[in-house]
Amino acid sequence: MIIHVRIDEETCTACGICEETCPEVFEVSDMAAVKEDADFNDFEDEIKEAAEECPSEAIEVEED
Ligand code: SF4
Repeated sequence: MIIHVRIDEETCTACGICEETCPEVFEVSDMAAVKEDADFNDFEDEIKEAAEECPSEAIEVEED
């Protein structure tokens, strides 16, 4: 179960890939952000895919 998703502000380049992969959880303007009302458990596979595809490895997924 995913309990936290964090974006590393130092390394995110605002490329938009995470939003393309899972727009229900990620939104990107001048940098990526995790939507406040995002349901991580409904989109577990998509969140992990976004983290793997992030070219900056800026997405940290914490599971319990
Ligand atoms: S895929 Fe990674 S670098 Fe690109 S916007 Fe998302 S968090 Fe930032």
